[in-house]
Amino acid sequence: MDVIVVGLGAMGSAAVHQLARRGVDVLGIDRHSPPHTFGSSHGETRITRRLTLEGTEYAPLAVRSHEWWRRIEAETGASVFTACGVLNLADHAADPEAFAVRERAAAAHGIDYELLDATALRDRFPQFRVEDTRMGLLEPSGGFVRPEAAISAQLELAERYGARLHRGERVLAVDAAASAVTVRTDVATYTADQVVLCAGGWLAGLLDDPGLARLFGVYRQVLHWFEAEGSAQDFTPGRFPAFIWEGVSRADEYFYGFPSVDGATVKVATGQLDHRTPDPDMLDRTVAPEEAAGFHQAMISGRLPQVSARATRSQVCMYTVTPDEAFVIDRLPGRERVVVASPCSGHGFKHSAAIGEALAELVTDGATTLDLTPFALGRFTR
Ligand SMILES: Cc1cc2nc3c(=O)[nH]c(=O)nc-3n(C[C@H](O)[C@H](O)[C@H](O)COP(=O)(O)OP(=O)(O)OC[C@H]3O[C@@H](n4cnc5c(N)ncnc54)[C@H](O)[C@@H]3O)c2cc1C
Repeated sequence: MDVIVVGLGAMGSAAVHQLARRGVDVLGIDRHSPPHTFGSSHGETRITRRLTLEGTEYAPLAVRSHEWWRRIEAETGASVFTACGVLNLADHAADPEAFAVRERAAAAHGIDYELLDATALRDRFPQFRVEDTRMGLLEPSGGFVRPEAAISAQLELAERYGARLHRGERVLAVDAAASAVTVRTDVATYTADQVVLCAGGWLAGLLDDPGLARLFGVYRQVLHWFEAEGSAQDFTPGRFPAFIWEGVSRADEYFYGFPSVDGATVKVATGQLDHRTPDPDMLDRTVAPEEAAGFHQAMISGRLPQVSARATRSQVCMYTVTPDEAFVIDRLPGRERVVVASPCSGHGFKHSAAIGEALAELVTDGATTLDLTPFALGRFTR
């Protein structure tokens, strides 16, 4: 066998699809049956935008992924990407440079955006209650990706192109020798020329180097769906964008949300990096009603007055975060046959289709069209 992909979530489904497309003899293995609700790729929607806060180096990944989402939709009939616009809301009095990275990325990559002052924000998006100092950066070509649909569609394409997918099979160990890699599971042992590890929050458990494993912290995240007051029409895609309400201090003010997908509720969440989880299998997956009420009180009431405090559901998910919150996509040092691509630190889904393509290029050609050097492991050891 040429390649084994371990984990078939966002990154693994993209990798196995792209490898199979190239005619590579590939086996994908997942301990669950993706898409599922145990990892990092569930909950209906993920924001996608080409102008990211994280850095200009991400824009080409998002640009390429947008092309892939449309192609995947055309080839499978799935609905993957909704370009409803992405609105970033920042307090410019507190942080005049809030949009600087994104404006640089827009200039470098020719991406359209609009700047909206508080008056324009109130006019265009009256759903928000904004302070006079709040500004908006609207990227009309951004929107949201449906993670479950994207994963299903890419796995469907992978199988169509000849990949073998083993669901419900757990990888226990990956041993890289000079001539091949051996993957031992709870069912069998396989040998391949190369292995791509896309195990998300479980990645650290597959690395035998404790120093490397420590780089990947897992954090519990909670998503909430609240009923819109009256009709949810004001929150449908087209009328309401995906958005990020940025805080000066991220911890106390940052939250994000989506247009209503079901016509009744609005999904909102924040990023939580307070408590690192030692073992993803021990993650507390229950959400008490008080947690949803507290979130609504702290973040939503006063800012989205038409979003009620009635939570219809909440869901737990996990971020796998590196020390600099940037990705790791690289060969393991000293084990060149093993490629790692997973810990995408809470902002990876939008880039995943392009990452899958880059992984396929890396293992088949040894080089990638997109520049992956910002995501090299060596940055932590220099
Ligand atoms: C709440 C939340 C909100 C987010 N919002 C956004 C957003 O708006 N925009 C954005 O771009 N990104 C966002 N992200 C980040 C994005 O969703 C992740 O970067 C991405 O889903 C990570 O995908 P992955 O493939 O690394 O992990 P996963 O999708 O979790 O896949 C890992 C897979 O590996 C399998 N696996 C693990 N161990 C083994 C083993 N031993 N054997 C076999 N299989 C194994 C698991 O079963 C799983 O299917 C968000 C993440 C969360 C949690």
